[in-house]
Amino acid sequence: MSKKSIYDLTHQAMKDQFTAWGFSSFKADQLFNWLYRKKISDFDLMSDMSKAQKSLLNDTYGTTTLHLVERQQSKDGTVKYLFGFDDAKVECVRMHYHFGYSVCISSQVGCNMGCKFCASGLLKKQRDLTAGEMVQQVLYVAKELEPLNERVKNIVIMGTGEPFDNYENVMDFCAIVNHPKGLEIGARHITISTCGIVPKIRLFADQHHQYNLAISLHAPTNALRDTLMPVNHAYPLEELMDALSYYASKNNRKITFEYILLRHVNDTDEHAIALAKLVKGLCAYVNLIPYNAVDENGFQGVDMGVALRFYDVLMKHGVKATLRARHGDDIDAACGQLRAKREGVFR
Ligand code: SAH
Repeated sequence: MSKKSIYDLTHQAMKDQFTAWGFSSFKADQLFNWLYRKKISDFDLMSDMSKAQKSLLNDTYGTTTLHLVERQQSKDGTVKYLFGFDDAKVECVRMHYHFGYSVCISSQVGCNMGCKFCASGLLKKQRDLTAGEMVQQVLYVAKELEPLNERVKNIVIMGTGEPFDNYENVMDFCAIVNHPKGLEIGARHITISTCGIVPKIRLFADQHHQYNLAISLHAPTNALRDTLMPVNHAYPLEELMDALSYYASKNNRKITFEYILLRHVNDTDEHAIALAKLVKGLCAYVNLIPYNAVDENGFQGVDMGVALRFYDVLMKHGVKATLRARHGDDIDAACGQLRAKREGVFR
């Protein structure tokens, strides 16, 4: 079996490890500094580690396991990466906003949620990603930005996979990238997007995390959501909204609802009114997403007029909304598209 990667360790786990070896827990600060500030992973280059410490680290932990397979850059500056590990490939996207760079990472290899409009589900889940494999996606982009004097400002866990189907690893990942001795990405700049795994939303609420929560809703009624998102059979809207009220009662945080506008599917005034009713009372924020066409499934996006009208109806009914800008239109930027192409899912 291959060694656990050093990138899997939270700061706390690193402290525990050094203490267990009989050293000061302060060594964890130094190791974090090497890995995430200096971005050096070779233990032998870490000048403040003793010979004994280097040797223990080398014997116990692996380091970088990620390599670049393919990189596509869009005219608007969006970059899509296909990263490889020994046994799997995952996608990651870098976007440039007015506030800085944002990275969209994958949390699993493939996905079992089976949303009808999504390319990721074309490849079933092969396995969960470890925390370290998620960390390395961010680190790769962070390193690439360094010569530009830029840093990763924001992370969204919206690539391939369902983060709440890989809860522990995702929470470790967030703790690692958030840590002040490391990449120090603010909790409020980390967004976890879920299709609605109710027990994990409740657990997340109980743990009082400061990361942003986004819910992929895409339909305001069970009848419609059932046809788009199989997860709705397991956790129908009443249960989802109950769990979100519970989250709101425990954490005074806004909740983002993602809603892809699909032509002749969920794009009428009635849908907008039903959506407004559904989310009212929560500190809700609806993010209207333009659809990235996936070759095989027949869904279409809406034109700007329809999107603006939907937006207006929501606002009139007292719900804050944004229309998400398109990124990477000229590259394979839809979730799972690049990997699916490489693995021969599309013609
Ligand atoms: N499983 C998680 C995170 C991954 S999907 C979730 O469901 O939230 C991230 C977001 O991208 C979700 O809102 C998803 O519904 C959306 N998405 C999937 N395919 C898309 C496509 N072709 N175009 C636009 N958004 C898409």
